[in-house]
Amino acid sequence: METHTLRDFCQQLPKTELHAHLNGSISDHTLTKLMRRRHLGGQNMTSFEKGRSRTLDECFQAFKIIHKLTEDEESVKMVTGDVIKEFSQDGVKYLELRSTPREEEHTGMTRRSYVEAVLNAIRSPEISALDITVRLLLSIDRKNGAMVAMETVKLAQEYLLTSDDCVVGVDLSGNPKVGHWRDFYPALQVARNTGLKLSLHLAEIPGQDEETQALLELRPHRIGHGTFLKASRNGTSELVEHVRKLKIPLELCLTSNVKCQTVKTYHEHHFKFWFDQSHPCTFCTDDKGVFSTTLSEEYGIAATTFGLSPKQLWDISYNSIDFAFAQHDVKDKLRFTWNEHKHLILRK
Ligand code: 5GP
Repeated sequence: METHTLRDFCQQLPKTELHAHLNGSISDHTLTKLMRRRHLGGQNMTSFEKGRSRTLDECFQAFKIIHKLTEDEESVKMVTGDVIKEFSQDGVKYLELRSTPREEEHTGMTRRSYVEAVLNAIRSPEISALDITVRLLLSIDRKNGAMVAMETVKLAQEYLLTSDDCVVGVDLSGNPKVGHWRDFYPALQVARNTGLKLSLHLAEIPGQDEETQALLELRPHRIGHGTFLKASRNGTSELVEHVRKLKIPLELCLTSNVKCQTVKTYHEHHFKFWFDQSHPCTFCTDDKGVFSTTLSEEYGIAATTFGLSPKQLWDISYNSIDFAFAQHDVKDKLRFTWNEHKHLILRK
């Protein structure tokens, strides 16, 4: 397929985005608005232009800077609305946002009011009018320790029952070099046992076999990245076998991994390893703002890197509906929407 035709195809392809961190997804346009609100001039220093890489630690520095601009409910609501609109413009029909409920003493924002601000944006008339279904996962940031992890799960439990199916699960994220899995295990276990869906960042960096093994015991519903599953100490065997046997879907973020240098090149990305075994995989952006990407671009990169046909891209997108944390009736509606688009875009 020619480049411009592929680009159009990927843009028109209906897509599910299952791994998008709210604050990492903020576009340059919205960051400029936030800086203006705070009367800050200067250049945005948080997004990595095309082709530019940084280390994983530098990526986490970028999140710290962004968090300084979203310290009150009004800005959290504003960025949530903007991020959803941008995903919708990119042809995303189902979006699972994830975000860490954050407390900011000097503005009075609490973890609860943070979640409320995100939900208010999702439920606003402007967003409800868009052709996109949005669900929310509450993130446990590894750096915040055991107590905050449990508090986050309690909030998620409460909203699971009261948010009209909007809050559906919990994510474990944050700098993988920080914290010990034993700190989060009890909270994640409570989440798993009380009906919340679990998506866990696993094996994002090398040398975490013990943690990965332990967290896999929780039978997470999806895995974020899983970059070093196949490079575990025991060769390819145990962890890969476990994930394969349980068919745990992988959320794969090509550009994020290459830009953070956990994967050297697109060609070396572990997508190929799993895809060749027909393991459930979905493409995601991770942090579309920080990594200057879109979900359509991720599909395009996958197609050119791994020689995927339009039909294969279609199948990856369609099958991703199966791994969404939404209710069955929502998934049925999404499948209907996909099938409506199918003849229009695959026939071209
Ligand atoms: P927020 O949760 O504030 O909406 O989104 C930013 C946060 O998501 C970061 O502070 C970090 O905890 C998490 N995050 C974003 N991207 C990544 C990633 O690639 N790996 C991990 N482990 N965490 C991430």
